[in-house]
Amino acid sequence: MKSRHLRVPDIAVRRFQRRTADDRVALVRILVVEDEKKVARALRDGLESEHYEVKLASTGEEGFFLVNSETFDLLILDLMLPRRDGLEVLDALRKRGLQTPVLILTAKDTVEDRVVGLDSGADDYLVKPFAFPELLARIRVLLRRGRPDQVLRLKIADLDMDLVTRKVARGGKAIELTSKEYDLLEYLMRQSGRIVSREEMARDVWRATSRATPLDNVIDVTIARLRRKLEATPGGKLLQTVRGVGFRLSEEAP
Ligand code: CA
Repeated sequence: MKSRHLRVPDIAVRRFQRRTADDRVALVRILVVEDEKKVARALRDGLESEHYEVKLASTGEEGFFLVNSETFDLLILDLMLPRRDGLEVLDALRKRGLQTPVLILTAKDTVEDRVVGLDSGADDYLVKPFAFPELLARIRVLLRRGRPDQVLRLKIADLDMDLVTRKVARGGKAIELTSKEYDLLEYLMRQSGRIVSREEMARDVWRATSRATPLDNVIDVTIARLRRKLEATPGGKLLQTVRGVGFRLSEEAP
């Protein structure tokens, strides 16, 4: 499976991506085919809060139609659906050559059902009721399996960012970041080599809509913390301050 886009589980990137059409990033898109409205909504809310982009379909037909008209990175498919059930939909999709990973959700819990599900082309199987963290863990495994590793990582010099697990390491040594520090670092890594102004960071990372409440101080403090963490490991400077202009993350000192 060749993914046409780099897909990134980060909501900050979504906003950024919509502003710059030429950028190669987009969110990981998940289609949830589930007829129970409560379950569907809970899945959507939970997944969105994990920065996935979620689309819901409440029937097998609708799911089938969406998969054929849009691109998804993962399908979560309920088995018991009105009219056309999940296995029929899955079977039809696989016959059409769809390679997107599919996670089946079902209330059934017998060995035979599992075997049938996996035989018809499901990649994994989760029995309701399930724990949400388990669903998330399985989603990560399927996403990782589904495509080349490099599109899910950013790397500059010895600094590594795993976009799926949101883990950062320098020279193999883990760096603990707050959520905002992570968002900022991801943004800087995507813009690496370029000088990024405080104004751009306010807009794209802090999502400030106006300059009414200047964030410069907040940005400077976050940058300082991030720099301390990045440079607590050997490997030299990565984050440069360009006086009066902004900041630049790059491999070489200017
Ligand atoms: Ca159902």
